[in-house]
Amino acid sequence: AQRNPGQPEFLQAVTEVMESLWPFIESNPKYAEHALLERLVEPERIIQFRVSWTDDKGQVQVNRGFRIQHSMAIGPFKGGIRFHPSVNQSVLKFLAFEQTFKNALTTLPMGGGKGGSDFDPKGKSPAEVMRFCQAFVSELFRHVGPDTDVPAGDIGVGGREVGYMAGMYKKLSNTASSVFTGKGLSFGGSLIRPEATGYGTVYFAREMLATRGQSFEGKTVSVSGSGNVAQYAVEKAMELGAKVVTVSDSSGTVYDAAGFTPEKLAILMDVKNHKYGRVSDYAKLVPGVEFLAGKCPWSIKVDVALPCATQNELTEADAKALIANGVLCVAEGANMPSTNEAARAFEAAGVLYAPGKASNAGGVATSGLEMSQNAARLSWPAEEVDARLLQIMQGIHAACVKYGKREDGTVSYIDGANIAGFVKVADAMLAQGVI
Ligand code: NDP
Repeated sequence: AQRNPGQPEFLQAVTEVMESLWPFIESNPKYAEHALLERLVEPERIIQFRVSWTDDKGQVQVNRGFRIQHSMAIGPFKGGIRFHPSVNQSVLKFLAFEQTFKNALTTLPMGGGKGGSDFDPKGKSPAEVMRFCQAFVSELFRHVGPDTDVPAGDIGVGGREVGYMAGMYKKLSNTASSVFTGKGLSFGGSLIRPEATGYGTVYFAREMLATRGQSFEGKTVSVSGSGNVAQYAVEKAMELGAKVVTVSDSSGTVYDAAGFTPEKLAILMDVKNHKYGRVSDYAKLVPGVEFLAGKCPWSIKVDVALPCATQNELTEADAKALIANGVLCVAEGANMPSTNEAARAFEAAGVLYAPGKASNAGGVATSGLEMSQNAARLSWPAEEVDARLLQIMQGIHAACVKYGKREDGTVSYIDGANIAGFVKVADAMLAQGVI
């Protein structure tokens, strides 16, 4: 805490991982050597820069840009770019730290990184968003490259923004190298990448449910968020026979007792992805749904909860409400949406609980598949990418079970994910010496 003052999110993420690792390291003392842990909590490099751009009124605006290059131990730095007013060094350091473990869990050769800006895309014109993306990349481009650091999207950065950034990178570097993932299909993107995080989260939850002889069929599911991850989590859960009763954004929750249908999801996607609207706008278009202003979905009784919005959106009190309502499984599509207290409350109550670094790894895994396709100058059919995604999620589930099994036969997915990710990164660091 003394070395990282004013960085609560980063300290929260490190605490969660260290609580899992401590007993493991005590019984595997080779990992206590060579200041391995001290090195692992220190990003290899932090880049902070000014982003100046001109708005539609001709006024000059100044934002702060960052790239946290956390660990290159197992491959190039890899992780998304976030545009949200809450972005600061603490948030990005926590995300880059988590990303390092998550990427290791995918078994693909990717290190960990994260970047972004405190730029708020809400209410900006398309031309302003493009100018901002170009200004952001005019500095970022010198720090990234296909074998150095490969960014992607995250909150506030979807296909449109990745396109603008990849275009500017191409112009400045005079290479067509694929330094962003999540690109459009016409310039090197992969099929299934937009769907991958949401689908992957549901695939992971399906594996968890199967350990108790259960499935999504007939289950009631709540989803928070309404962006990229949430939309495809809703789609896949529906496809598997679940009734999805909520989506949300920072303005509130939409509760739909009858459950989503493909038609309703198409309306939500249009509101969110094309009109850049709010879930309250969606609620006005769909009869029979209720808009709960300022509320999260967690007080609603469900069998499965999929938090897909943002960090710390699910508190200990929310966890207790879900548990009291008999929740069976919680799989995180977002990064660290549950506070540490909420996560431990789920485990203590015997709820199947998956931390984001395990259950939402499908997005970055498919980014890794996009890198492979780009390197081979090929594009795989959707079925092939989806099959590999499923296989990777099953592999991560198996790794969590292997490293997280308790003496009584139950599984701590928190410990399993942290230890499995750590072992891969730590072994690579030990083999490459003190650097
Ligand atoms: P989007 O920008 O597409 O959607 C974000 C959603 O979360 C929106 O509904 C947004 O609502 C809501 N949200 C964001 N910040 C807040 C906040 N402070 N309070 C309440 N709601 C908020 O982002 P993604 O769907 O891509 O990302 C969602 C989560 O998933 C993030 O935690 C991200 O790191 C994680 N993730 C994403 C991956 C990907 O492939 N995209 C991969 C792995 C993890 P509003 O519009 O009101 O802000």
